[in-house]
Amino acid sequence: MCKIQELSNKNKNYKPKYEMQDIFKLYGDDYISRHKLNSMQLKAIRDICECRTSAMGYNASECNDCKNIEFAYNSCRNRNCPKCQGDKRYDWIEKRLKTTLDVPYYHTVFTIPNQLFEIGLYNQKIFYNILFESASQTLKQFAQNLKWWDVDAATLEDKKTKVDLAFFGILHSWGQTLVYHPHIHFVVAGGGIIGDTLVKPKYNSKFLFPVKAMSKVFRGIFIAKIKKAYYDGNLEVHNELKNPNYFENYLDNLVSRKWVIYMKSQFHTSTKIVEYMARYTHKSAIANSRIVSIDNNIIRFKYKDYKDNSKNKIMKLSSDEFIKRFLYHIPPKRFFRIRYYGAIQRVAKIDTIKTIEIKPQQTRVKPQCKKCKCKDIQTVVVVDRYTRVVQGIMTPNIVQQKREILHSNSISSQFYRSCDSG
Ligand SMILES: [Zn+2]
Ligand SMILES: [Zn+2]
Ligand SMILES: [Zn+2]
Repeated sequence: MCKIQELSNKNKNYKPKYEMQDIFKLYGDDYISRHKLNSMQLKAIRDICECRTSAMGYNASECNDCKNIEFAYNSCRNRNCPKCQGDKRYDWIEKRLKTTLDVPYYHTVFTIPNQLFEIGLYNQKIFYNILFESASQTLKQFAQNLKWWDVDAATLEDKKTKVDLAFFGILHSWGQTLVYHPHIHFVVAGGGIIGDTLVKPKYNSKFLFPVKAMSKVFRGIFIAKIKKAYYDGNLEVHNELKNPNYFENYLDNLVSRKWVIYMKSQFHTSTKIVEYMARYTHKSAIANSRIVSIDNNIIRFKYKDYKDNSKNKIMKLSSDEFIKRFLYHIPPKRFFRIRYYGAIQRVAKIDTIKTIEIKPQQTRVKPQCKKCKCKDIQTVVVVDRYTRVVQGIMTPNIVQQKREILHSNSISSQFYRSCDSG
């Protein structure tokens, strides 16, 4: 499981020395020529290679004060690109905050025994869906039990009253060294909703639900679902696993393995929740800032060794192995890596329930005009990779300024937009 990482590049002008883009530019073509990749993996490599280069087209922003025009190459916006997570992350946070309850939040992680990873790797879409379904059903099941809430069941008119839980989950498929390690982080509101009333957890600061009991329920649901997928012929399995007797045995053995659920109460203040969520949501398998060197087909990168007191260490991998691991984490086509559950959509509509309010400047750093340093600049035109204007209008002023830049031969420095994501 990956653990909390600080948003490492708070300085907007920070630019990592090495990037995934460099690795794919150097070794991508060769790797593609020797391996069979799916269309999503090929697209990710191409997008990352072309991100913020002339191949992506460009955009122009105008300062409302001094009318200075600045150009930047477009971002690829591929969800696997380490450079493109920042903006999307902030958009997402601003949207989510409207439904964030004014209660403590619990961070919950569901992991599975590593004996299951091989099935996961060959059946990513169905496997991740089963993981999401089993974990979310477990949370809902516990939420519905009134004994975990601070309510007097005897006073409820309808004895079948159910408590609705507001939560969302994010699938990560990686461990710190980019190995395959699927797990889901859930952010769970420490408050249940009955009708239009918010109820508090009974054991408030201690725990929301008991994790040991939860892991048993989770395991039961997961195994039943994976069995069904197998007998329905929806799982690609290899070697002995093709034999149903062997498969049954293999699942029985998993019961005694570790099905870890981690649950921790988190911060109460609104800004903390925002920062906290941002670390998990829009994130690729590795941040560029972790890449230490790229040299002669060898990639060195930083990682935290959780088996050794969370010490910071450096891992050395061949470029082939590094790319292979990175590609494990390109999710299947049309796959939703973030999912919302229970009352989360309803929260904004219930006016008796308090949601937190965040001022926009707490979540997003506004771009600054390089000339007059004011923060009143806006995108006026976006030109795509085929030189089509896809947003705004191309004014004579923009055409003129672009021509001047091209003539002065300083395209790379003018057009480069500094990296703003971790
Ligand atoms: Zn994680
Ligand atoms: Zn990108
Ligand atoms: Zn200006």
